[in-house]
Amino acid sequence: MASSTQKQVNNTTGENGDNGDHGELEGDHNQWKFRAPYKVHDNDPNFKTRYHASCHCGKVQYQLSREKPLDSKFCHCTTCQKLHGAPFQWAAIFHKDDINFTHGHHDLGWYESSEKTCVHKLPCKVSCAYCRTPIMDEGRNMILLFPTLINWKSPEERKNFDISCHMFYNRRIVDIPDGKPKWDGINGSSRLIEDSPPELMKKRKREIEEEEENKKNGDGS
Ligand SMILES: [Zn+2]
Ligand SMILES: [Zn+2]
Repeated sequence: MASSTQKQVNNTTGENGDNGDHGELEGDHNQWKFRAPYKVHDNDPNFKTRYHASCHCGKVQYQLSREKPLDSKFCHCTTCQKLHGAPFQWAAIFHKDDINFTHGHHDLGWYESSEKTCVHKLPCKVSCAYCRTPIMDEGRNMILLFPTLINWKSPEERKNFDISCHMFYNRRIVDIPDGKPKWDGINGSSRLIEDSPPELMKKRKREIEEEEENKKNGDGS
């Protein structure tokens, strides 16, 4: 048996959203349920609500305290296509402390795509355990949430979530000729392609040439 030091914690866990969990409610491995991004910010004067969001069935509700995401992107990779049942993923990056799930970890389900497990293991996908609306990707340090759940009150609010770039654009199902930077892999560490801004493409081409030159010089001894 696991230690009984987490008894108080146990009483509030495990009713929902524990698909695939070991059925153990005790122990340190449940501590994450009470830390950001699942910590409930009730009566927290430092948490200023700027947006409300909800899944399709409404069981999952959350607020955001940051006006603009740290970044926002479309990802065209085939994993996103499959997991979202959509041509690409729209993800907005926030700190874990920027989000307040009204019911904490309850009503949520998790999926970790490399081990294909429903145990909460970072990085993982988070969805509504009832209607299965995708909610966010939880990384080790940040969250990438899917802005279509946000109930915007004006077009200006939605504009705050405009994307800065496209990722894995060479895997795309649809062309999006919006003039934004288009990376053929991860942004910042791949090639810029298609209708990316020309000056950025030139700069990136030079960087790649330099990287290759350095590699050659390093290996050539
Ligand atoms: Zn739902
Ligand atoms: Zn992706």
